[in-house]
Amino acid sequence: MRKAKDNENVPKRYYRPLITTCPRCGAPLRRRWTLWDKYLVTLEGRLHVFSLGYSCSRARCPHAQVIYRSVEAEQLSPKGSSFGYDLIVQIGGWRFWDHRTLDEIATLLEAKHLPVSRRHILNLIGDFLALLRAAQPAKIEAQRAYLNRQGLVISLDGLAPEQGNELLFVAREANLDLTLVAETLYSSRADLISQHVLEPIKALGFRIRAVVSDADKNIRRAVQTSWPGCPHQACQVHCLCEAGQPIFDTDRAMKTDLRRDIRAKLRPISRRLSQSLPDDPPVAVLTDYSEALRDALRAEGLSPFKLAGLQLYDELQQLETSLRRCQKKGGIPFWPRCSTSRLPANAMQSNMLN
Ligand SMILES: [Zn+2]
Repeated sequence: MRKAKDNENVPKRYYRPLITTCPRCGAPLRRRWTLWDKYLVTLEGRLHVFSLGYSCSRARCPHAQVIYRSVEAEQLSPKGSSFGYDLIVQIGGWRFWDHRTLDEIATLLEAKHLPVSRRHILNLIGDFLALLRAAQPAKIEAQRAYLNRQGLVISLDGLAPEQGNELLFVAREANLDLTLVAETLYSSRADLISQHVLEPIKALGFRIRAVVSDADKNIRRAVQTSWPGCPHQACQVHCLCEAGQPIFDTDRAMKTDLRRDIRAKLRPISRRLSQSLPDDPPVAVLTDYSEALRDALRAEGLSPFKLAGLQLYDELQQLETSLRRCQKKGGIPFWPRCSTSRLPANAMQSNMLN
């Protein structure tokens, strides 16, 4: 539950109409009142958005009663939603283009400090699909000739937010990356999948060439019922993700350990660097190193092949080699204006290496 004080430090953003003068008489527009305001979660973070209404400042203007508003403000989010389109599209992209799981999406949002619960993520995926679906009939129509010729290769995906909640099923044409059906079902029973997800595809009237999905028993049974004899392959991304999960988990644990250790060591050095004169050449070099280090620590993995722990380990080794080379060449001399309160750059550099 969000408390009133959580809203205290939310940045405010005001939207005004694009025009500043009355289109009828040319007099300047004047601000009348706030048409609406709401708290919105966008990719930038939480915002308090105000849409301001303006009207002609000349009382006798025949258009004096017309209220002008910001088009941009109206386009920030769906009506009645407190999440921006940018966020909805990003979540949809993570889910369906990058094949991220709900957990991974939750982690990505957390890293951006965006307050979106798992339940909301699923709703936003639903919103994303509703947006996609709205454009679907036109897209299917545009591809009709191709689909008549080639038939459909269906990719089926079931998504459960947590035990006991409703499930989201999405069917797409795999070659065109076209969403055909997206349905929320209260149970993953085969007959429901068949009735609500597969039958609508059948109704489109195209030849079904093959189906790709994970190894879920209900999905397999539903496909056998709706399209008996249709080739049904296990999705390679799902298989690889499942096979690679133990490695991915171990790698993530290593990344967490490395991060914790390095951050603890980096903190006092960063503090000391920020207290030093920025135009000192050694400070500039060491600041670059600490920036590179911080950047390396931000690495994010993606199951099954992008292993952020290993990547971080490699980058740390490269940084270490570079720092040692620097030290050997004497590239970072002692602090030029060394005072007792400051640590020589060499000592700081050694700290970075240890
Ligand atoms: Zn006017």
